[in-house]
Amino acid sequence: MTEPTTLAAFTQPTLTIAGQPAHGEPDQVSDPATQSVIGYAPVASAAAVDAAVESAAEASGSWAALPADARGAHLAAIAGWIRQHAGDLATTLTLEQGKPRSEAAGEVDAAARAFDYYAAEAVRIRGETIPTASPTLRSVAIRQPVGVTAAIGTWNYPLGIMAWKIAPALAAGCTVVAKPAEQTPLTVLAVIAGAARAGLPPGVLNSVSGTGATVGTSLASHPLVRKISFTGGTATGRRLLHLAADDIKSVTLELGGHSPMIVLADAPMVLAVADGVKRSFRNAGQLCNSVNRVFVERAVADEFIGRLTERAAKLSVGHGLADPEPDLGPLTTREGLARVEAHVADARARGADIRTGGERATGGDLDRGWFYRPTVVVGGADLRMATEETFGPVVPVIVVDDAEEAVTRANSLDAGLVAYLYTRDLRAAILLSERLEFGTVNVNNVGGGDVPFPYAGWKHSGLGVELSRAGMEEFLRVKHVRTELGYPR
Ligand code: NAD
Repeated sequence: MTEPTTLAAFTQPTLTIAGQPAHGEPDQVSDPATQSVIGYAPVASAAAVDAAVESAAEASGSWAALPADARGAHLAAIAGWIRQHAGDLATTLTLEQGKPRSEAAGEVDAAARAFDYYAAEAVRIRGETIPTASPTLRSVAIRQPVGVTAAIGTWNYPLGIMAWKIAPALAAGCTVVAKPAEQTPLTVLAVIAGAARAGLPPGVLNSVSGTGATVGTSLASHPLVRKISFTGGTATGRRLLHLAADDIKSVTLELGGHSPMIVLADAPMVLAVADGVKRSFRNAGQLCNSVNRVFVERAVADEFIGRLTERAAKLSVGHGLADPEPDLGPLTTREGLARVEAHVADARARGADIRTGGERATGGDLDRGWFYRPTVVVGGADLRMATEETFGPVVPVIVVDDAEEAVTRANSLDAGLVAYLYTRDLRAAILLSERLEFGTVNVNNVGGGDVPFPYAGWKHSGLGVELSRAGMEEFLRVKHVRTELGYPR
């Protein structure tokens, strides 16, 4: 098969079913920075979804039986394909999602690293031998793939998130049907087509595209699908969990967050401000682990708010492919922009202090896109933005009396994805991080969310684990093989 050499091959990808290109009604994909159509994604018919799942089921036995190092070699070949096409993939990602080109390149690299990581991890699937009460009885727990997996992703990190599902699933011996978000299908479809070109056996990795209500539901409810791995909103995750219950399917859910950042009076201030800016506004605030609310101790509140505001006001907004590159691109969806505007209007109505931003970024080319100015709000914990995920470049700062109040407020919501804590006090860092009800606690840093480290939403933020070795174990199930050797000859 010929390799795509032009951007058009990435902006007009095919579906991949049973290793072959497949087509469907073309759906427009638009650049959120300009509203121009930049490509088309084929919408999978009901028959195409069936064919994709059936091909995954057919390939399941031989893929699971392939030696782990051979599966790993296929994953490494996918990583190689991604790296070979990294430039066009990053440009396509910026065009469909809006993020600055260097961040898109970082996401493409993260996807390649996920395939490399799980290529190496495939050979480390282990079981255990369990002592029995008899010298002739053997009990062994082996781990086998769960089976056909529906991988359903969202649009803020379309390629990274999908790689974090596909790579561990394939490493574990599962076959996959992947459905990217309808807003950002291009890079994911291109990579899955690329995986077939890179020699992945037919049926092992298939793609379907279309809306959640149609294609997503028929994929997730298909009786041959044994595992649903989902990243997206909590409401959708809850719906999928109900749907999985009907057929007792296994699920891993990575859902919405509402991450608190706690800044104590002894915080390393320069770092706290820099990290606060980074995690509030990166990807225009469309991060599941964005800082959604800051609790700052009264003694340093003025200093922190002043510095954060100053830095936020200097951030540039523009097209992700512009030169020089802007700090923020547009919001990816019209609904996203409307939610940001509603949350800021609510803050104004409640008398909160909008220190910077608080309006769309307009003028010239910006008028064509869904741009919003980085916004810092000082207000009470009752603001909508302080309790609901804004998913935009907006951060409310709430002044608290002490660490105790900060932790109580941080734990008061149903969200439990990530919490950030800034202090120089080792004792406070350890004791408070143990009390925070979140799957990740970052002390004096905003890293993580990378393939070697486990990522798990607590409470309403998810079920199960993604990334790391634990992320691969989500695609394995235990079988106890108990063998009596002492039968009469
Ligand atoms: P969403 O839940 O509306 O959609 C996500 C995916 O699910 C899309 O592919 C969509 O087509 C599909 N879908 C929608 N309804 C479906 C249904 N009934 N059946 C099957 N599939 C369906 O996405 P969203 O809410 O716009 O995504 C943003 C959310 O994702 C935010 O809350 C964010 O925090 C969360 N998120 C979480 C993580 C994490 O790792 N925890 C990472 C990124 C984003």
